[in-house]
Parts: sequence; C-alpha cells; structure tokens
Amino acid sequence: MREDRELLVSKLSDMGYIKSETVKEAMIKVPREEFMTGETRNFAYLDRPIPLKNGQTISAPHMVAIICEKLGLKKGMKVLEIGTGFGYNAAVVAEIIGCEGHVYTIERIEDLKNNAQENLERTGYSKNVTVILGDGTNGYNEQAPYDRIYATASAPKIPEPLKEQLKIGGRLITPIGYDASQELVCLTRITKDNYRFQNLGGVVFVPMIGEHGWPE
Ligand code: SAM
Repeated sequence: MREDRELLVSKLSDMGYIKSETVKEAMIKVPREEFMTGETRNFAYLDRPIPLKNGQTISAPHMVAIICEKLGLKKGMKVLEIGTGFGYNAAVVAEIIGCEGHVYTIERIEDLKNNAQENLERTGYSKNVTVILGDGTNGYNEQAPYDRIYATASAPKIPEPLKEQLKIGGRLITPIGYDASQELVCLTRITKDNYRFQNLGGVVFVPMIGEHGWPE
C-alpha cells in the first residue's frame, strides 16, 4: 500500500496539485485505506472520491492536496474542519500542523463521526484531532478563533459564524453553490470587518446541510 501511496503522491506532484514538501510528506505518511471500509479499501490510491456511508464520500486525494496547499498550514496552528467524513483530510492536516497544533472537526452524521473517531484513534491522530458531532455551519465557538477553517461540503454562501470565528490574518476555504455549479472559495480576514475573496475554481462536493447551509 505504501508504494501505491507514493505513486499517487508522485502523480499529484507532477500534475501540480502537490507543491510543498510538507503536503507531500503528510500524504505519503497518512494511510488513506485506514479511513475507508471493506472493499472500497482496494481503491484507496485511485484519485477519486469514494463512497463511505449514508450517501457521503471520502474526498478525492487531489482535492485534499488543493485544500491543504491553499490553506498554507504551519506547525502549531488551530484548525477547524466542517465535514469530517471518516477523518482522512483531518489526519493529513494534523500530520502537517504537528502535535503542537490541533484540528477540531465537525460531522453532522453520528455514524460517520463514530467511524472517524475510531479511525483517528487507530492511526494515532486522535491526540491532536477532536471530532465533534453537530452542525458545522455554526462553527465551533468553544475553541474560536481559528488560524484556518475549511469545509468539505458546499453551502449556499459562506456561513457567517465561520467568518466570525476566523482569526485576523486567518484563512477560510469552502465550496459554495449547488450540484455542478459549485466554486471553491478562499477568504482571508484582513481586519475585523474586511475580508479578501479569491475564487479557486469549480468543484463538486456534497451539500453542507444545516442552519447556515442547505435545508435537510
Ligand atoms: N473530510 C472528508 C474526508 O476527509 O474525506 C470528506 C467528507 S464528505 C465529502 C463531507 C461531509 O460533510 C459528509 O460526511 C457530511 O455528512 C458532512 N456534512 C454536511 N453538512 C454538514 C454540517 N452542517 N456539519 C457537519 N458536517 C456536515
């Protein structure tokens, strides 16, 4: 499996999705198959989203690479993720920010949250990843503000609580839009009330469902 992982990471580097040594090393280290179940594990090193449970997916590796690169993660950062799934992206981020950093990740489906918790414990990432069951469109005020916030589900617009829970100088990445008309956007908080907006291009994610997202 490690050889398959190295091959995939090398392809993602050649294609320009992986740009930094930190993201490269983390994606070589974190075993994606440990965040999947049953026969789907055989497809862990295809660059594709793969079905998990409850109609949800584990994101494609190139999307994990794009998000991690654009976040500009550094050791010791405090990061909030919306949409844990089975915990793979959170583990890659945890690997990059190191044991002095922390990832808080929110999942709205209890079954997935429990799977993610188990996967993170088994792979040794539960020390610096906390999995929370809830509606991530409200963020997680208990640990705010965050250096970085990212979502792996798409909302109608950037949820206001997420903007408010970002540190000044912090960065937020989320898909917005529905079905095939989604864009990945990046927001940098310049001052308390000023944000710089960047459109990173078209993507396809599952819907972000919740108070500041889509209705159930
Ligand atoms: N981060 C995952 C990974 O590592 O592959 C990807 C998970 S999947 C693409 C998106 C997840 O967002 C789903 O598990 C879904 O249940 C979750 N989700 C959707 N709306 C949410 C919300 N309001 N709060 C928390 N999780 C949400």
